[in-house]
Amino acid sequence: MAYKITLIPGDGIGPEVSTAARRCVDATGVKIDWEIAEAGADVIPKYGTPLPGSTLASIRKNKVALKGPLTTPIGTGFRSVNVAIRKELDLYACLRPTRSYKGVRSRYENIDLVIVRENTEDLYAGIEFEEGKAETNSLIAEIEKLSKKQIRPDSGISIKPISITGTKRIVKFAFDYAVKYNRKKVTAVTKANIMKFTDGLFFKAAQAVAKEYEGKIEYEERLIDNMCMQLVQKPELYDVICLPNLYGDILSDLCAGLIGGLGVAPGANLGDGIAVFEAIHGSAPKYTGQNKVNPAAMVLSAVLMLDHLGEKKAAQRLEAAVAKVIAAGKNVTYDMKADRNDPSAAGTSQMADAIIAAL
Ligand code: NAD
Repeated sequence: MAYKITLIPGDGIGPEVSTAARRCVDATGVKIDWEIAEAGADVIPKYGTPLPGSTLASIRKNKVALKGPLTTPIGTGFRSVNVAIRKELDLYACLRPTRSYKGVRSRYENIDLVIVRENTEDLYAGIEFEEGKAETNSLIAEIEKLSKKQIRPDSGISIKPISITGTKRIVKFAFDYAVKYNRKKVTAVTKANIMKFTDGLFFKAAQAVAKEYEGKIEYEERLIDNMCMQLVQKPELYDVICLPNLYGDILSDLCAGLIGGLGVAPGANLGDGIAVFEAIHGSAPKYTGQNKVNPAAMVLSAVLMLDHLGEKKAAQRLEAAVAKVIAAGKNVTYDMKADRNDPSAAGTSQMADAIIAAL
């Protein structure tokens, strides 16, 4: 029986890279009944919102979605449609495996790291108070009363909630991932020496979870500033890295940089029973409709999706096909060429054709 999967083409370059990914998945022979669902700035005139209820309902029903990038429309009340999807569906784990592919231009080789980022809490919870507003002034007054510390009256305030519940479930996710994929170690990363009651709590809750995996998976802690330096100096020391939201966002991009950039960096957002697969990159509006950008990140996100479905063989074949095309260096997009203006660069759909041919 075919898997029913929600496909959100996205906007900007989204439709081009998601079409490429869909064609590659279909070419593996795995039967998928794609249910197309709309979202993004382009659908606001039709639905009055960039995130129609029918799209969320489709993901809830099918449990698995492949999603193209979505532009964040300015001035709609949506901080980001992508963040809204994660929130609505409680996709609390952002999974970003970063692996070097031979042939990608990068300063590093043999990178094999997995970032597990908490997706729902921290400074990204969206609890903010604007400078000068009445509620901000009364909050500042209340904080000064409670903490006996001064805040400048012309300050804006962002709240950083980190809970034991949220931390335990993300750390458990990281350990379970490590067990399932034969990883050796989980490194928790925060700035707990400074933020004792949030980042310190993250470490404490992580230690409690780590105890359950003693003897199976190693556990260690690092401070975020030191971790940035370590990752550029000795990335081989690390394996699965688990972080609160903001540090996770920053370190994901750092790790994407280690493997040669956004064009090859896949991702997934996972909750209990629901999974949305998407590339790390955005909608790159300036390239819309040009058949120019690299489909590899989106295809590799689809590889993660196939693996999630239990279609291990198809996932391995598709990843190997992507690796083969990249290594050959011929049918690759402009961003993978030594000279970005190389006229022999393949288009998005031609690179997808080459991946399909390499299956
Ligand atoms: P972006 O990732 O869209 O593009 C930045 C640059 O990276 C591009 O100009 C391009 O040079 C390069 N790039 C990105 N994807 C590429 C690809 N597949 N192949 C080759 N080069 C590629 O980031 P941005 O410009 O900051 O964001 C544009 C829009 O996308 C914003 O509205 C942002 O909110 C949104 N966004 C969405 C997601 C998502 O859907 N998950 C993620 C990030 C950004």
